[in-house]
Amino acid sequence: MTQKEVRARVREAAADRGRLDCMRQSFGTILDRQKENADRIPDLEARKERLRKTKEASVGDEGLFLEALARLEENGFRVIVAKTADAALRSIRDEVKGYDLVVKSKSNVTKEIHLAESLGKDGISVIETDLGDRIIQLSGCEAAHPTGPACHMTRREISELFSKHFGEEVSEDPLELTRVMREEIASYISKARVGVTGANAITASEGAVVIVHNEGNAAKCAMLPDKHIVVTTTDKVVPTLDDAINVTKLQTYLSTGKIVSSYINVITGPSYTADIEKKVYRGMHGPKDVVIVFVDDGRMAAQDKEAMYCIGCGMCLLHCPTYNVLGPGYGTPGHMGGHGAYLAGSLGNLDEAVDAGANLCTSCGACRVVCPASIDIKKGLIDTRGKLAKAKKGAVPEHSVLVASVKNYANPWQVPRRRKANWARGLGLRPRGEVLYFAGCSTSLLSPDAARKVVRVMRACGVEPAYLGQAERCCGSTARKLGEEPLARELAEACFADFKKAGARQVVTSCPGCSSALNHYSELPKKHGIQVLHLSQFICEHLAELNLTPVDIGPATYHDPCDLGREQGVYEEPRKVLAAVLSTPTTEMERSREMSGCCGSGGGVRSAYPELAAEIGKDRIQMARDVGAATIITSCPWCRQNLLESQGEAGSMPVVDLVELIDRALADDQR
Ligand code: SF4
Ligand code: SF4
Repeated sequence: MTQKEVRARVREAAADRGRLDCMRQSFGTILDRQKENADRIPDLEARKERLRKTKEASVGDEGLFLEALARLEENGFRVIVAKTADAALRSIRDEVKGYDLVVKSKSNVTKEIHLAESLGKDGISVIETDLGDRIIQLSGCEAAHPTGPACHMTRREISELFSKHFGEEVSEDPLELTRVMREEIASYISKARVGVTGANAITASEGAVVIVHNEGNAAKCAMLPDKHIVVTTTDKVVPTLDDAINVTKLQTYLSTGKIVSSYINVITGPSYTADIEKKVYRGMHGPKDVVIVFVDDGRMAAQDKEAMYCIGCGMCLLHCPTYNVLGPGYGTPGHMGGHGAYLAGSLGNLDEAVDAGANLCTSCGACRVVCPASIDIKKGLIDTRGKLAKAKKGAVPEHSVLVASVKNYANPWQVPRRRKANWARGLGLRPRGEVLYFAGCSTSLLSPDAARKVVRVMRACGVEPAYLGQAERCCGSTARKLGEEPLARELAEACFADFKKAGARQVVTSCPGCSSALNHYSELPKKHGIQVLHLSQFICEHLAELNLTPVDIGPATYHDPCDLGREQGVYEEPRKVLAAVLSTPTTEMERSREMSGCCGSGGGVRSAYPELAAEIGKDRIQMARDVGAATIITSCPWCRQNLLESQGEAGSMPVVDLVELIDRALADDQR
């Protein structure tokens, strides 16, 4: 996807609010249902931990995979292992040769390998039997959620689609919409002699295929035709049926909010009977032939296997700021959102990773918090960007400019290095000292006034900060997020060498991106015996030394910067400081602390895709409005800048930095 295309998509998405709103409403319904049923799954966290452990131990385990193959064969499955997507398609085409109709249930991997399109070229009709998938198939648009693929379409749109398809008026009544399509799907299933399903898990010790579904058609696809083809991936193998049940529980609860799905099928090969003289006869009532096609496509050999821990629950999509703006324009057909781009990158499909939007991630990290397998999509996408940079693929011109600027000017803002220290003129700051203020590129160049206030506040705390002046380098945060890992490390190491030379024992930053970048290589602070803190942490430690008169700014809320909160776990310190400087307590937004929404600026998104950053920023401002706030407080220059730039039609919302409020609250004798 080129930037031009991304921009067009953002514009389209912003113009077509109906679809976006519909998708978000559906997401809200899932979350509400989860809340309603939360007490019925009290062991949710334990289940997530178990899932992570299961996946860590199983994905890529060749021994376990071979055990699964042996058991499946013992049970009468014909097993095909396809090394590539093309090989899988060839095998499936051989299997369906001579048939002209295939009925298929929900399966991500069949979308990944474009099975329906491929069989279509051979003149074989593939009919989706999941209602949502069938709607998507008829509409030609992309699925928006793994288990609710058509959740972004209104009932009116679906009624128009069905009316056109059936050649007669179909009402908007959901029951009527379901009825007419159920009848059509049933007639296809009764005629088809081949059924294709996916699998939610394959169990090694039992040699079983486990399929979760709600509508019942997956079971019909598996049981009514003569031949059942299971198309799955090598990463779906888990040790036991118990592990598979854990997958189904989590997948159901997180994707629908229900405690248990309508159906869970455990299939252990062709049906058989031994009712006549105790002799086994296969294929008595169900399919005679059950084939399982494992698509590997680089999975077993991949170095980073974390993307393959996915169980397709869609939770990451519900919380992803980019997905909430772009919808299915972010991700791949089989794997939506950032996870799709990460999976493509980890499988070495770099062009696909670019098209999927590897550069659209704001690095907010919300997805990892909500993912039942704790998949670190943010890190995965940063690594993918590293692979892209190495392979010289998918270069984003605006990102290249940022990186060149970091190399040439020691800041990403293309400003000569000597100007970075202008803010400190006349402050008499010394270049050496135990406590060093690291102003950072953004505060120095975008909010020089804030940098001066930081010095005043630190002095009010009784600490005379040292400052490196023009010698201050870039911390490397931007370079790392854009995939320039070697440069980022080099910069972090050089910064620590500078701190050491300056005699620093403690480094205070006003930008959370700086403290997170400097703490990222955890061996560096240890090696040099230097503690790196964000300003909010420093002030919190020195609150007792400050003579503060609380200020009244009216109803306000605090926005947790992703680099400070989720990245460094700093949630309480800014709130303690705010409690001391404001006369009225702040109100929390619905999404705060670990679940905080994103401002839209990070990961190079604001630089390369300002329209996307602005839409995400608007969403965050709306969240503040929703709790009655008239001011947003934050403690990051990037967040502040993007939120200020993202004001929508509803009018402007002041966005102030924490240091600004502390400065205002300082007694005159401390100013
Ligand atoms: S890190 Fe944030 S923007 Fe990136 S994929 Fe995850 S939720 Fe989406
Ligand atoms: S990446 Fe995690 S949250 Fe997203 S669909 Fe997969 S399992 Fe669910």
